[in-house]
Amino acid sequence: MSQKPDSIEADRGPLQRFLEDLHRKYQPLCEGHLANYIPELAKANPDWFAICVITVDGQVYTVGDFEQLFTIQSISKGFVYGLALEDHGRDAVLSKVGVEPTGDAFNAIVLDEHSKRPYNPMVNAGAIATTSLLKGVGPTERLNRMLDMFRCYVGHDVVIDISVFMSERTTGFRNRAMAYLMRNFGMIDERIDEALDLYFQQCSLMVDCRDLAVMAATLANRGINPITQERAVQPCYVRDILTVMYSCGMYNFAGEWAYKVGLPAKSGVCGGIIAVVPNQMGIGVFSPLLDGRGNSVRGVRVCEDLSTRLGLHLFDCQTSLLNLTS
Ligand code: GLN
Repeated sequence: MSQKPDSIEADRGPLQRFLEDLHRKYQPLCEGHLANYIPELAKANPDWFAICVITVDGQVYTVGDFEQLFTIQSISKGFVYGLALEDHGRDAVLSKVGVEPTGDAFNAIVLDEHSKRPYNPMVNAGAIATTSLLKGVGPTERLNRMLDMFRCYVGHDVVIDISVFMSERTTGFRNRAMAYLMRNFGMIDERIDEALDLYFQQCSLMVDCRDLAVMAATLANRGINPITQERAVQPCYVRDILTVMYSCGMYNFAGEWAYKVGLPAKSGVCGGIIAVVPNQMGIGVFSPLLDGRGNSVRGVRVCEDLSTRLGLHLFDCQTSLLNLTS
């Protein structure tokens, strides 16, 4: 197994101090609930809290429980979407999965009334359809291609949490219902159980907060991992991944998030959030207490503060960027 590569662990500095201040500020915030749709996730410690920023030139800033492992859950969706785009191109993927935001919850059993496509790749229905598109001869090859893609993004081998996978698989009745509905409309092929297994496997991938930040930084760096310099995705598809993250990545909070934070982002029910500042940095936050929409309570607040303080909102033409990273 390959080891995590060395990186330039940044010394103290204004950004490091700012992250430490944010961590101190929000650690006492104990609002929200743990994901409890499977028992494994309810075992998380509500105090876990980590923030990590990685710049496109490979500087790493970490604070808190940044090596605590958890399952990636929905944060996987944008990355798998990138692999489906590489496999089939934009038009073919677009014919099976739309790019419209939905005001519905991430697990809503709903398809576009006219096209019968799932609304976008960031909600469960769209993610299952996306996963079903991955190329490969048989389930093992498809799984290995997906794991290899994640390996490129994080810069080391990745593993699946088997007990989370098994629980997702045995209790994922809503996801199963969506898959059958999509099969009915020809949006996925007949390998329904196989597509669901691969979807549950991608959700059960184990990562830590530093992994989240390097994945985000890879998207910020045109698809090249800034630590290993390995290419994780073709640069032409980074635009597509970031666009759906921007409009749909925070579920039915995506509009308010875009308004306040102004960055492409994705959250998962384990409490992770990634946010991408194109050409500058990737941000990872992990804290398992969730709000009513399934987004990390501390994670949202940290990103709001980071965006405001560093002037990161993509459409902010007033704030001159505060260079805290030098
Ligand atoms: N495994 C979860 C599900 O499919 C992932 C959802 C999420 O992170 N929002 O329901």
